[in-house]
Amino acid sequence: MRINKRLKQMDEENIFEQVSIRVNNFKKEKPSANVISLGVGDVSKPVIETVAKAMKNAVDDLTDIKTFKGYGSFYGYDFLKEAILENEYKDQNFSLDEVYISSGAKTDTTSILELFDEESKILITDVMYPIYKDGAAALSRDVEIMKVYEEDKFVAKVPKEKYDIIYICSPNNPIGIAYTKDELKAWVDYAIANDAVILYDNVYSSFVKSPNVAKSIYEIKGARSVAIEFRSFSKHASFTGVRCSYYLIPKEIKEDINYYWKKRTINRFNGADYIAQKGAEASFSKESQEELAKNVDAYLKGAKTLKEAFQRNGFKVWGGEDSPFLWIKTKDKQGSWDFFDKFLKELNIIIIPGRIFGEGGDGYFRVSALAPEEVINEAINRIDTYYKN
Ligand code: PLP
Repeated sequence: MRINKRLKQMDEENIFEQVSIRVNNFKKEKPSANVISLGVGDVSKPVIETVAKAMKNAVDDLTDIKTFKGYGSFYGYDFLKEAILENEYKDQNFSLDEVYISSGAKTDTTSILELFDEESKILITDVMYPIYKDGAAALSRDVEIMKVYEEDKFVAKVPKEKYDIIYICSPNNPIGIAYTKDELKAWVDYAIANDAVILYDNVYSSFVKSPNVAKSIYEIKGARSVAIEFRSFSKHASFTGVRCSYYLIPKEIKEDINYYWKKRTINRFNGADYIAQKGAEASFSKESQEELAKNVDAYLKGAKTLKEAFQRNGFKVWGGEDSPFLWIKTKDKQGSWDFFDKFLKELNIIIIPGRIFGEGGDGYFRVSALAPEEVINEAINRIDTYYKN
């Protein structure tokens, strides 16, 4: 037997595990150090009560044969699809057939490649959420990489060459910026002109605040004929441990696209968890929406204070307005792993080296405001003290 050779080709530097290895080694060397983390992309707020209650009721449903649910929701339950269309895509007239419920956008954004011909030319940017590249590799798909530059605020510019599949992540992880409506329109126009499809990773949609940023790509004229939008309950409803996500495949892309995707899905996926779907539905109640909006606002407040702290200490910073992430340039042209080690050893703060997100990320690092408020405040104190501000 032979192991999939593509797995061996995955970029070692791309691996988050490297961060834990270095952190664990440091903790062994210096057990007294109080190491705090601005690294993790995980949430620090728990699942809210109304949502938890709905999930507890769903467990009760499963114990009674009259309400028991087994297999069957390959594409998701209608109760959740209806809640999504009513709350997130009101007046857009999508049908339930175009909505799919799943168990995480990480899987969804790569397994969608099974919909497209193997010869498709797939474009991703460098830097980028690393899953697209390595996820495509695991499916034996080649990707082409386009650099994004500091001068363009790391926004990808439409290329001259033709690509078939384009990954866009907005609000972006790791950069923390969101594409403006005009920037997105340029990509939608490109996709229309080139018969391409945009895979629009919009898992941070609930963080969008700027008026010139779209909450959904479908706000852009023509996008329905070229874009598949992915979202998740992970960051918005603290579902990183519960697992529930969704995506839309508009029939305008191709008349029979949903027929083929359903054919594929019924053979590859037995449906998302009923309990998680009940919880996700409850996250749309008025009470939940108010509470979850407060969580997002608290994360964004943390992003703002962190951004100000780095800026007053002489760092160049991007993001944080429509996203919980900040993208920061290292000082003195230091490489991102060297800067990671410096922060770990001298300030006892974990950051994420930009190199993890691609070669273009060297010389930058990512900071997450999804950390608890007290961690953010402590980090700011340490940064101010270290850089004397
Ligand atoms: N897409 C992006 C850009 C992310 O940052 C993340 C999580 O960090 C995901 C997808 C994964 O989301 P999920 O938890 O739904 O798998």
